[in-house]
Amino acid sequence: MKDRQFGRLRFISGDNRGKYPFNHSLYIDGGDACVIIDPACSLEKLSRLRDKEGVDMVWLSHWHEDHFHYMYLFDNSPLWISERDFPPLTDMEIFLDWYGLEEESRRAYWKKVMREQFNFRPQREARFIRNDEKIDLGQVKVQVIATPGHTPGHLSFFFSEEELLFLGDYDLTSFGPWYGDVASSIDETIKSIRRLKQIPAKKWIACHENGLFEENPGKLWDNYENIIYEREEKILNYLKKPHTLEEISAAWLIYGKPRKPLEFFEYNERLLVKKHLEHLEKQGQIIRDKDQYRKK
Ligand SMILES: [Zn+2]
Repeated sequence: MKDRQFGRLRFISGDNRGKYPFNHSLYIDGGDACVIIDPACSLEKLSRLRDKEGVDMVWLSHWHEDHFHYMYLFDNSPLWISERDFPPLTDMEIFLDWYGLEEESRRAYWKKVMREQFNFRPQREARFIRNDEKIDLGQVKVQVIATPGHTPGHLSFFFSEEELLFLGDYDLTSFGPWYGDVASSIDETIKSIRRLKQIPAKKWIACHENGLFEENPGKLWDNYENIIYEREEKILNYLKKPHTLEEISAAWLIYGKPRKPLEFFEYNERLLVKKHLEHLEKQGQIIRDKDQYRKK
């Protein structure tokens, strides 16, 4: 996968096709300032970029670690992010709370991973990017698009002159959207997907896997949204008989089958199932009786 230049914007492809723990980044030579969005693509590429071309600011689409992986390279550059997504970056305990990690051993494990693998360093300050703000970098103008759901303060960026839309983690992958964190929302995710679909772009950049779309993703938008309803349908079917959260998670209805590392994916499966159960209960489609759920 190649890096690509579009005027003053550069798609920087990530290691391993931008699969977790990597992503694809976007570099903007704005004229007045150079910006890197989501610096988690590749240690080598980002180090070179810093040394050869320079980076004045780091923007994050949201708070997840596979987007700030190499942010420490730009320690002297100001961080820009939505206010809503900033708290987990200020404190490791808040970070773990936002993932819903409760068990002490699990927290200890992730603390170590965040520090050693993702170079987590508590951030003291940030410039907050406002929803729907227009940012003028001199030669490049950026329209901020608030796209909550994946995280509550997730942002996408539209470059109207270049007709390029940076989607962030509404990544159009075949796995489908992630909304498993404590503050994620299925309903907001659906709204954000629909909002992004309406933006009159000619090129689309997603943070993982395929990454760059030079033709309208078309049906991929619907497929991506439909995965949410398919997951819900599978859970509803399974709940024709009553089951506990543990039993539903163990059925691997979302990932389809056990995936490795088991501990990581078991936990993710459980988070997504839990989110769907809350959603279905709120819609009155399932009933909860103590620790068991069943279809109405
Ligand atoms: Zn994310």
